[in-house]
Amino acid sequence: MAVPVLSPRVSGIQPSLASILRRRARELRAAGRDIIELSSGNLDFPTPDHVIAAAHAAALRGETLYTDVDGTPELKQSVRATLLRDHRLTYAEGEIVICNGSTQALFNALLATLSPAEEVIILAPYWAPYLEQVRLAGGTPVIVPCPQNNGYKLRPDDLVAAITPRTRWLIINNPVNPSGAVYSRKELSAIAAVLLQHPEVWILSDGLYEHIVFDGDCAPTLAEIEPRLKPRTLTVSGVAKTYAMMGWRVGYAAGPAALIREMIKIQSQTTSCASSISQAAAVAALNGPQELLRQRADVLRAKRDHFARFLNGCSGLSCEPPQGTFYLLVSCAGVIGKCLPNGKQVLTDRDFAGYLLDHADLAVLPGADFGLSPYFRVSFANSQSNIEAAGQRLRHACEALR
Ligand code: PMP
Repeated sequence: MAVPVLSPRVSGIQPSLASILRRRARELRAAGRDIIELSSGNLDFPTPDHVIAAAHAAALRGETLYTDVDGTPELKQSVRATLLRDHRLTYAEGEIVICNGSTQALFNALLATLSPAEEVIILAPYWAPYLEQVRLAGGTPVIVPCPQNNGYKLRPDDLVAAITPRTRWLIINNPVNPSGAVYSRKELSAIAAVLLQHPEVWILSDGLYEHIVFDGDCAPTLAEIEPRLKPRTLTVSGVAKTYAMMGWRVGYAAGPAALIREMIKIQSQTTSCASSISQAAAVAALNGPQELLRQRADVLRAKRDHFARFLNGCSGLSCEPPQGTFYLLVSCAGVIGKCLPNGKQVLTDRDFAGYLLDHADLAVLPGADFGLSPYFRVSFANSQSNIEAAGQRLRHACEALR
């Protein structure tokens, strides 16, 4: 059998733990096991009806062709209006690009800017693709731990210590996946003060979960907090989590035209454009009624509190209800060192996640996947009955440890 010669650029990249776990959960489910999925990044809300209707109408109108590489004029206009509405940020048309999800926006920005040996500051716990995207783009991730005792947030002094002459970007996510932490305006101002002292560092601001916050309407972003940073900030977001449109694959980036132009070049040679139908749907989402966002955040808040109570009742586990996202980051420090019913010791959060999947039919993501151990992440975007069943299974699983 022919074996492909692999590029060293890719062969060093690990498949995400999340994808391995999801595959294992799928296999177990196919074998008849009732696995409760707590590891997914999908919301359990439907895409709003008016958004689906707009996509249908667009397809019937014949909007089934390639669009401009940087997105349809209508969607770019909607994104500009959204950035003004939510963040008081003004961007020109040439400062916006529409991508296949914010994942692509982030990657194109890194690919467009990084040279070998250049560093990107990533805050742990992090969304794992930041790390691998930086590596794929030829850069070096520099990880700054943001421990629980600082609310999983970046301390300005730690940022100062991490910056070197090779630092190209700081990636900052607000609210944070996986901790659910939300930076306040004051906290962002303190970070901005450090960045003003380092004009060579650019800022990748990822606001994908900005509307899933439990106190206020929209999480702030750095360019709105400190306008002097705007000329070197790329503000990234998308419709995935705000409107439960994960599979539609529409994200966007707003920033200096010279950077956006480079990102568009990459996109034109790789994916051409985001889906025309999804772009029409995104226009309807951004321009349509927004009351749904608060209603959905209220539903998620109740689920958060419910699940957090269950988790804190499990021996060896603890969590603090987060201010945003639909994830709970749970400390499992209290189970490390204990023995499973088969006598094997739980040494890591991966061991514990494996135990939960194999013996409690629960799919969770270990903290190792986010650069912070010993923790695991669960989603509370789940039905009440799943949350209750998961809570009970977790309690039994913890009680079975010795
Ligand atoms: N940023 C963060 C922090 C995420 O968690 C995700 C997806 N879960 C993304 C970006 C990418 O989302 P999308 O490509 O669907 O816009």
